[in-house]
Amino acid sequence: GINPLNLMGIEVVAEPGAMVLPLSTGLPDDMFAHDGQITKREIRAATLSALAPRQGEMLWDIGGGAGSIAIEWMLCHPANRAVTIERNRERTARIAHNALTLGTPALRIVEGSALETLAALHDRQTPRPDAVFVGGGIGNPGMMEGAWDALRPGGRLVANAVTLEGETALLAAHARWGGSLSRLRVERVEQVGTQSAFRPAMTVTQYA
Ligand code: SAH
Repeated sequence: GINPLNLMGIEVVAEPGAMVLPLSTGLPDDMFAHDGQITKREIRAATLSALAPRQGEMLWDIGGGAGSIAIEWMLCHPANRAVTIERNRERTARIAHNALTLGTPALRIVEGSALETLAALHDRQTPRPDAVFVGGGIGNPGMMEGAWDALRPGGRLVANAVTLEGETALLAAHARWGGSLSRLRVERVEQVGTQSAFRPAMTVTQYA
């Protein structure tokens, strides 16, 4: 076929070793600085699909970690906006670094505990988000309700859990509000001695 880039007379050649951002979500984990607290690539792609960003929308990302969900939300369209809430200071610094290096410097990072921050954002009459993602603190009493109450009417709530406490909260959310529940299990090949084997990661339960 015809390469549209050649058609326009432009040849794109990346510097050796340069980071080239694909247009798809589910970027490789190592494109983000992280300490292990990151939604893994395959799960992240499924999570962005459930969050279903549309042009110009606002996401509140609870439990920011490395910021990967909020950053990929913003990368979907230049008009997309996001607020990420993370209580750990080292991680908020890391999120800021990732937002800069991946080209989403407008990401708003709030350092604080999720429920208090949600309440403060309410008080300050910050416009309500089109979507809320809960990726941390799901097992805390009141977290899912707080996320639900933050949404604009017709907004979308997505939450991922790996702990029994988190999963219990998601079952309750499903019983109360309907929606969908799924389990995502990813296994990746790793070295085992001199051979290789699929090593399963913790199963993620996803509510949408
Ligand atoms: N979605 C993130 C990873 C989340 S890991 C990513 O892809 O990068 C969960 C994060 O939630 C951790 O960084 C933890 O510090 C944070 N967290 C847990 N409970 C919290 C709470 N109550 N308030 C704020 N952050 C919380």
